[in-house]
Amino acid sequence: MKKIAIYGKGGIGKSTTVSNLSRALSAKGKTVMQIGCDPKADSTKSLVGGKRIPTILDTLKEKKKDTKLNDLIVVGDGGVLCLEAGGPTPGIGCAGRGIISAFEKLEELNAYDIYKPDVVIYDVLGDVVCGGFAMPLRKGYSDEVFIVTSGEMMSMYAANNIATAVKQFSNREYASLGGLILNAKNIENETKLVENLSKELKTTIIQRIPRNPIVQKAENLGKTVVEAFPEDDMSSVYMELAEKII
Ligand code: ADP
Ligand code: SF4
Ligand code: MG
Repeated sequence: MKKIAIYGKGGIGKSTTVSNLSRALSAKGKTVMQIGCDPKADSTKSLVGGKRIPTILDTLKEKKKDTKLNDLIVVGDGGVLCLEAGGPTPGIGCAGRGIISAFEKLEELNAYDIYKPDVVIYDVLGDVVCGGFAMPLRKGYSDEVFIVTSGEMMSMYAANNIATAVKQFSNREYASLGGLILNAKNIENETKLVENLSKELKTTIIQRIPRNPIVQKAENLGKTVVEAFPEDDMSSVYMELAEKII
């Protein structure tokens, strides 16, 4: 089982990238489990027809001890196992604590042994890399971390913070930095800017994903690009990313 975490600033394109990656991996015959770890809880939307699935936290609140594994997982396009950790009521509670509760419940219900995924992907908001949001980096939850960034200052700033968080754990056999994923915003000198960042972080850009309106076209159909437009060049980009991740 390969366990990876994808971090990045809010709105940078993590969920789009992760969902397409999951769908591309499933097209390659892998069983994939995608776990959204963002209070927005829309990580898996484009794998399940554009709707939102119930979050683990909401289900736990409602069903308490009667919660079954089936209640937490929705099987999406290509058989991708879709989960959303969920988040607290705005203004009350800790989002990080929510992620931890969701993870503990999945372990308690033996989710990994029962579904036996080949790849588990955590889609994590990286604006705040506090203890809670750093959870997917710790205790063996993920082996490798990839950071989605564009050449915009704020997304590179977040990438730098996330890389720092990864380094905090590097001596304790926790997750290591696998590389950057450049999700282009077409700003001036973008590739150069992100290349410079990757050098500073002593890592590499594993994939450049172009900005492409076909992403919105697929999104409007409630689908990933790989599902809706498998013949398009953009699908090949996500397939290439999947190949590199494997
Ligand atoms: P995040 O999960 O990081 O908050 P999303 O994946 O939800 O971000 O993406 C935010 C918006 O950016 C979405 O509406 C999505 O359609 C768009 N987007 C992401 N990647 C691309 C891309 N490569 N080309 C065009 N639009 C993109
Ligand atoms: Fe929880 Fe992190 Fe927010 Fe603190 S900063 S309350 S640990 S989510
Ligand atoms: Mg997202």
